[in-house]
Amino acid sequence: MDTEPGRAGDLADRSVRADADLLLGPAWHRFLSPHFDDVSISCGGTAALLAANDHAPEVCVIFAEGERPGPQTAFVAEQHRRWRLDAEGVIAGRRREETAAATILGTVPRFLTFPDAIYRGTRYLDDPHLFGDVAPDEAALPAEIASALGLDRPVDPAARVYAPLALGNHVDHQHLLRAGLDAARSGWDVWFYEDLPYGLDPATLATRLDSLERDGARLVPASSVDVSATWRQKIDAIMCYASQVPVIFRHVTTVPSRDQIDAAMRAYAEAMPGIPVERYWRLAPA
Ligand SMILES: [Zn+2]
Repeated sequence: MDTEPGRAGDLADRSVRADADLLLGPAWHRFLSPHFDDVSISCGGTAALLAANDHAPEVCVIFAEGERPGPQTAFVAEQHRRWRLDAEGVIAGRRREETAAATILGTVPRFLTFPDAIYRGTRYLDDPHLFGDVAPDEAALPAEIASALGLDRPVDPAARVYAPLALGNHVDHQHLLRAGLDAARSGWDVWFYEDLPYGLDPATLATRLDSLERDGARLVPASSVDVSATWRQKIDAIMCYASQVPVIFRHVTTVPSRDQIDAAMRAYAEAMPGIPVERYWRLAPA
């Protein structure tokens, strides 16, 4: 409809600036990362941008705990084999990767002690279960996580919380989506992020938005944050997860090199040529 040269670019500039003001409004920012690496891959550019503007965002890895004493399941052994980490070194190794990524992004890492789904007994023994329905006896877990994060306390108007949309449907991501929705309904400023690389398949976003709407939670766009200034930091941070990168990106590229990962992430992120963004959603007012 609008064919005036340069006009689309001007509009994009203005909307990017407006989104920057929106982003930097709250005084403190806390990203909820289900596992090590989720926030770096999904919203590392935004986190680095906040850090560059003296907002020192906190990245809370919620399911940062490992195996409990007892027999190791075959599924756990298989995951450790793929990550090339042994049971003794897996959590320390993954914390080191997260800390290295945080140093690059300028974020403040924090580790909660909820065990990862694969370590929670025999509830999730293979990928179909890990990416299926949450176990019925874990219904209280989102409230426990919210309590550990102080989200059950009165709303702090100076705070913004970032929670996953659970694209890809991993059960741990679903728990944080639930905790985020509950917090948003209580009045917390919650932005929901698109989980990557699951979200590289566009069907995952449509599926999630549809299913939430059926459940009475309509999400609308909150912001598209221009991360061109911090894109290199984001990819550098992703490359810190040496144990995860070949596994995570195996569906995206046969050779998980920095260039291949950069290209796959950029193809998804570029709202228009040269402007990669990270998109956020929020709960529409009832
Ligand atoms: Zn995850």
